[in-house]
Amino acid sequence: MVSQGITVLGSTGSIGESTLDVLQRHPDRFHVVALSGHDNITRLAQQCAQHTARYTAISDTTKVGKLQAALDELDCKTEIIDGENALSTVATMAETDVVMAAIVGAAGLEPTLQAVLHGKRLLLANKESMVIAGELFRRAAADSETTIIPVDSEHNALFQVLPEKFDDGLESVGVEKLILTASGGPFLHRARESLAGVTPDEACRHPNWSMGRKISVDSATLMNKGLEVIEARWLFNARPEQIEVVIHPQSIVHSMVEYRDGSVLAQMGVPDMRTPIAQALAWPERIEAGVERLHLCEMGALEFFAPDLDSFPGLALAFQALQAGGNAPVNLNAANEVAVDAFLDGRIGFLQIPSVVAATMDSCAAGKISSLDEVLEFDRRARATANRIVQIRESS
Ligand code: NAD
Ligand code: MG
Repeated sequence: MVSQGITVLGSTGSIGESTLDVLQRHPDRFHVVALSGHDNITRLAQQCAQHTARYTAISDTTKVGKLQAALDELDCKTEIIDGENALSTVATMAETDVVMAAIVGAAGLEPTLQAVLHGKRLLLANKESMVIAGELFRRAAADSETTIIPVDSEHNALFQVLPEKFDDGLESVGVEKLILTASGGPFLHRARESLAGVTPDEACRHPNWSMGRKISVDSATLMNKGLEVIEARWLFNARPEQIEVVIHPQSIVHSMVEYRDGSVLAQMGVPDMRTPIAQALAWPERIEAGVERLHLCEMGALEFFAPDLDSFPGLALAFQALQAGGNAPVNLNAANEVAVDAFLDGRIGFLQIPSVVAATMDSCAAGKISSLDEVLEFDRRARATANRIVQIRESS
């Protein structure tokens, strides 16, 4: 078996750590080419030593000294690549066969898109990239004839139960609907009025999944599901009306596909991201992921019900952005990143997150997108607008 060279962008995060856990179970199949991190330099150095990474990439040049010192302390020979293009360099280098895109937010866009443009197999966790530049990803994947395998558990579930090819659209293979499941987050069944004073720690306490703080807040507002609806639109070339969201608090059914003949195919498993990560790494084969087995008889009932869009307007805003098209998903995502940061810093309340997003979307002029530069420019403008709106809310 030829060992595949893996580069993990965002290796110090929750998805990054789970990816390294799966990789180390299969030293015959995979070797680590490069790891990247942003904040947790000590951990990044430990990972480089443990996985004998050839390179480590860091865009913030002020952290290079600390990283080198941490590597030296571990007697680790990993070479540092730093600066603005460091992430794209490791994502596109010849040694890299597969890129795991696990950076959080639009910060992951450039290296993730570059990986596809260079024909690398992409394992996509960084949903924000697909949300803001879906059209560019579709075009790049077609041009370079590369495969994008979704790691997000819902999309990975859909990937598993859809036919391998449907170039002529979902209808051509008899698909009527993609049904994304959502746990409902920590505030499921809570009335809107009761959410005004919730703290960042409460919002990050997800009942089923252990994840980074940004996606945990997104799960609490249901914006995560909104972003996933847009992600599904681009990954599977689905029309907005073909995508449905169902609340499923147990997080056992990860998503479903409804076919023309009434069949509904679901993918199930315990809520552990190592399953979709292992599926994506090994596809089309299957490998051990280190996860607990699903014991259905011990589970009790699995519930499904419709989402409450009044308490959680984030989902409705995402459907609006999807319908509007053009730069609307960029505005939605940028405003959400700014608002979630402000909430995590204690500058705005939980209920203000969707209201900052809605106000930003209303304030930004509509535009079309045909290049990465345009995405980055719309993203910059939407962030500036959202920051102004946050400041006004803070002082009022
Ligand atoms: P996290 O916060 O735990 O980790 C984020 C990683 O990105 C870290 O390695 C961090 O150093 C890096 N990073 C942050 N800002 C950066 C910047 N400006 N430049 C370069 N690197 C930067 O996040 P996570 O929970 O692992 O999520 C990562 C991505 O995967 C997100 O897009 C999230 O939506 C998606 N995702 C996560 C899960 C999950 O279970 N955690 C599930 C599905 C999808
Ligand atoms: Mg998900």
